[in-house]
Amino acid sequence: MKKIDPYLKAVLDNFTTNYFASRDRAFSGLDFESLRQELAEIREQSLERNQELLNQFIAQAEKLGSKVILAKDSEEANQNALNILKKHRINKLVKSKSMVSEETRLNDFLIENGIEVRETDLGEWIIQLDKEHPTHMVLPAIHLTRKDVAKIFSKKLGREITDDPALLVRIAREQLRKDIFEAGAGLTGANALIADTGAMMMVTNEGNGRLVSTIPPVHIVFTSIEKLYANLSQVFVLLKMLPRNATGQVITSYVSLIAGPHNQAQYIILVDNHRSELMADSVFKPVLRCIKCSACLNICPVYRLLGGKQYSHIYMGGIGTLLTAWIHGLEQSKDLAGLCLNCHRCDEICAVKIPIADLIIALREKLNLELGKPVFKEMIFDLVIAHQNLHQTLFKMARTARPLLKTKDNFARKLPAPFGKYERFRALPLPAEKSLTELWKTQSASTIKEQGLEVKKLQLYPGCLVEHFYPEIGIDAAKVLNRLGYQVDLIEAGCCGFPALNAGFREAGEGVLAQLMKKIKAENTIITLCPTCTLMLKRAGEKLSAQVFPFNKFIFEKELGSIQNFVPDKKLNKTICYHESCHQKHSLKANEASLELLKILAGENFIALKNADSCCGFAGSFSLDHPEISEALAMDKIYSIRESGAEVLALDCPGCLLQIKGACYNSGLKIQVLHLAQVLASYLL
Ligand code: SF4
Ligand code: SF4
Repeated sequence: MKKIDPYLKAVLDNFTTNYFASRDRAFSGLDFESLRQELAEIREQSLERNQELLNQFIAQAEKLGSKVILAKDSEEANQNALNILKKHRINKLVKSKSMVSEETRLNDFLIENGIEVRETDLGEWIIQLDKEHPTHMVLPAIHLTRKDVAKIFSKKLGREITDDPALLVRIAREQLRKDIFEAGAGLTGANALIADTGAMMMVTNEGNGRLVSTIPPVHIVFTSIEKLYANLSQVFVLLKMLPRNATGQVITSYVSLIAGPHNQAQYIILVDNHRSELMADSVFKPVLRCIKCSACLNICPVYRLLGGKQYSHIYMGGIGTLLTAWIHGLEQSKDLAGLCLNCHRCDEICAVKIPIADLIIALREKLNLELGKPVFKEMIFDLVIAHQNLHQTLFKMARTARPLLKTKDNFARKLPAPFGKYERFRALPLPAEKSLTELWKTQSASTIKEQGLEVKKLQLYPGCLVEHFYPEIGIDAAKVLNRLGYQVDLIEAGCCGFPALNAGFREAGEGVLAQLMKKIKAENTIITLCPTCTLMLKRAGEKLSAQVFPFNKFIFEKELGSIQNFVPDKKLNKTICYHESCHQKHSLKANEASLELLKILAGENFIALKNADSCCGFAGSFSLDHPEISEALAMDKIYSIRESGAEVLALDCPGCLLQIKGACYNSGLKIQVLHLAQVLASYLL
């Protein structure tokens, strides 16, 4: 169970609000999409040509007078650093920021071997004094406020220090400059290794990197083998992206190009630590495109709740989980892999288009295959979900038990301990009296397939939540489509297979998808009512992908004219706001269709919801695995909804509906939570 610290949450929320405002300004006038495409291609080529570029870099750097050392793992890298210090009889080392040295735990190793190590990046120094580790790749002490820093400084100096930022910086500068001039060696990282010249590029904001790399008589560069670029013009593309995506700056305060030693001995230690294996892996190789800008952390809802102490081994967040699996071993990544909501926000902001969310699913599969499947999940996915008949039978049994489970408000009765944590913040729904398939059979003759309208045919895939819990959404969707002149056939299948796939049970997930595919007619358009099911169906190949439409997008793109004809007769006379579901927005990019429809239909009754795209915390089985995170996200959502004052909340995802409706109920917030199909039905029928 993770701990949600409200104080840390407030610190990170405050930081990210400012970060996104600066980032927007820094990218204004630039096309982020084409820039990241260009950088992704550069990084990909560099990984393709890694050995060639590495050889070229070593040859050129050695011509400039540097000594390059290749280290296969952390032990070798740390030992080499120690050997250099011993060779030059150095007992004090100053460092500027290097995540690779965190990766190898260099400081601990050197200190154990009698070396005094002093971090000179302000954030790194603060956490060194606090005996902590970085919690963010760019801003290592992001979890601390200036009050915290003042306390740490007071403890270190043995006197009361106020939290005046100018004073804190002055104290740090005086202390750290003294250290830099005393030290026998300076250690820096490098953001880029330039193959055709043997030079290195380093960005910092404090100038300490320049002092550390030039003042002490020995300079050690401690970095990793994937940071190669063919030439300086490629590094300029990196420079255009890195500060903007990392800190919302157009350029960092210091950009240093280091070409050979500066009246000193210079060693370049290049760490492999399983990167060569990762480079050879066709699925996970994109992980090494990463430029460590940390934008994916800043946008990650889980990182923003847990911070980098809980959502990291050494590297943080989703990309950190992937790096950990390769660099520090699968075992270390096991718990981290379960923390991802698969919201796909990080994919949208990644500087080099790494498909982080999908790679985490691939990692879950690798974990299941190599470390063994969790027994409970194996029962659910390999035995129940994989066998649709058994799945359907279990739901039928649950429907029979409905009268026993029902409360007066039509939610499920409270679960006995220890299951109470799953419903502490949200009431759970009951299985519907009749599944959609059953209901469809009773209503189809008169309502669903309206007489005389057999002009255009569609198939409707409801997904299992609509099939078993919210059949009324399926009925309303069919009625709306009917009203617009479509004959709708129901695809009688339960699960699409995504829950199994998401948990790393790919075979089971794809097996379920294959069963579903048999029910799809090649010539038909398929309408879906759940963004996650839509994503899953789109995995089944390009042809099917072109046939599948989320309900809202279909209506908006094909039937906007007809819908507009109904506006004068609008019946829903209530204020309405819209929650943007993660898969609908960040994967399918289909949220705008709903927004536009609602604005047209509701007119001045439409209210913009603050943080409309913040995750509600459902994410399928995530809300069962991490109820504490799910609850915190749901409560933020409830806060925004309450603040909006709207009478109706519209959304496109039955999973979000389950979460938000149940959380509204438990929070005493009286609001109608409706799928867009239900909203449209109330206007059109
Ligand atoms: S998919 Fe969402 S939860 Fe997962 S790492 Fe990315 S931003 Fe974080
Ligand atoms: S994964 Fe992408 S967004 Fe995250 S740190 Fe790496 S480059 Fe930046």
